[in-house]
Amino acid sequence: MMEKIQMTTPLVEMDGDEMTRVLWAMIKEKLLLPFVDLKTEYYDLGLLHRNETGDQVTIDAANATKRLGVAVKCATITPNKQRMEEYPQLTEMWKSPNGTIRAILDGTAFRAPIVLPFLKPVVKTWTAPITIARHAYGDMYKAVDLRTEEPGTATLTFRGESGAEKSLSVQTVKSGAVWQAQHNTEASIRAFAKSCFQYAIDTRQDLWFSTKDTISKVYDGTFKEIFEEEYEQVYKPEFDRLGLTYFYTLIDDAVARVIRSKGGFIWALKNYDGDVMSDMIATAFGSLAMMTSVLVSPDGTTEFEASHGTVTRHYYRYLKGEKTSTNPMATIFAWSGALKKRGQLDGLADLTAFGAALEQACFDTLNAGIMTGDLVGLAEPGFPARSVTSEEFLDAVAARLAAKVG
Ligand code: NAP
Ligand code: MG
Repeated sequence: MMEKIQMTTPLVEMDGDEMTRVLWAMIKEKLLLPFVDLKTEYYDLGLLHRNETGDQVTIDAANATKRLGVAVKCATITPNKQRMEEYPQLTEMWKSPNGTIRAILDGTAFRAPIVLPFLKPVVKTWTAPITIARHAYGDMYKAVDLRTEEPGTATLTFRGESGAEKSLSVQTVKSGAVWQAQHNTEASIRAFAKSCFQYAIDTRQDLWFSTKDTISKVYDGTFKEIFEEEYEQVYKPEFDRLGLTYFYTLIDDAVARVIRSKGGFIWALKNYDGDVMSDMIATAFGSLAMMTSVLVSPDGTTEFEASHGTVTRHYYRYLKGEKTSTNPMATIFAWSGALKKRGQLDGLADLTAFGAALEQACFDTLNAGIMTGDLVGLAEPGFPARSVTSEEFLDAVAARLAAKVG
């Protein structure tokens, strides 16, 4: 019997809902527990347990992540009206756990596709993943809007606690008009910048940032300035040491360059730009089931998860006894990412190597043509792809993993 790989500090483990909860248990049983002496602090973020604890379990899990530094999270249900009917025992329409955790960690979410040779992105030049970092506070998402009918003038006024005022005229109009006031805070922009530089260093990737500062000289100009300050004053030496580049360019120039690039960098974007571009990048790379998501705090605290949800439709088929072909890749990569990070922080080379071996075993399985149904339709013509159940896929990965580390 081989000796299991040891851990020192536990991971924060956040369990979740529906099909992904089923996959979660299978991944642990087949790919982790046989090889690693797994240490986790377990928090059950399944909807019913969130309900029983008045959602305190979500807050506890986020605080544990702050304390221990690394977390791995399963997809969870965000209840809506329909879920309130499905689960009559719910005492409240609980908020999105991801929103709660992000607010406590003050984090930025980085979304990246898992790239495979037989899944060609729509953009032929992209050979490496493009990671999108979206600023998740303010701008249009916390704006106030106004529609007016008559001629007149709008002004924008800020009143300080000191009583001092700053005011300017927005526009004088001769007829009906629409108005919008947006804001952001220096603290949030700075936290965003720090998370981006930190994650670029962690993943050894160049960082691109783009806004429209030629037109929005003060607003977008402030974003540009804060990023530059953080780079010059904090992160430049580490970027230089690792041979990484920080690159600022206008959003329109960035779009053109991204399309012609090979990929392999982080693209940081303001809230709206990130909303739009992350959907474009995800679609162009192929499949939602292959998108990973990493939440990073300014201090480097990291939470790993899949970008997709709980795959409800598959879960109902599973409940009827069907063996589904749900893709576990993004959830496996959440675990491998967390184990690699834990290994790096604790100086456990074996644990880091195990995370990498787990990912390689997945790639070997897929490259051998063994995959879940969602990927079969996306494979290049002529690639001998065969659809298997989630369980069969995990068994195939486990066999390859055992050959590497067993
Ligand atoms: P979803 O769970 O991502 O699933 C949407 C569809 O995408 C599925 O029905 C399936 O298509 C396909 N899909 C997604 N992941 C897949 C995978 N791993 N393997 C194969 N196919 C996959 O999104 P949703 O149905 O909108 O949301 C379901 C629940 O998840 C909701 O309660 C929502 O609140 C929650 N959610 C949670 C998170 C999170 O925790 N981070 C994120 C998003 C949504 P087919 O059915 O056509 O096969
Ligand atoms: Mg969007």
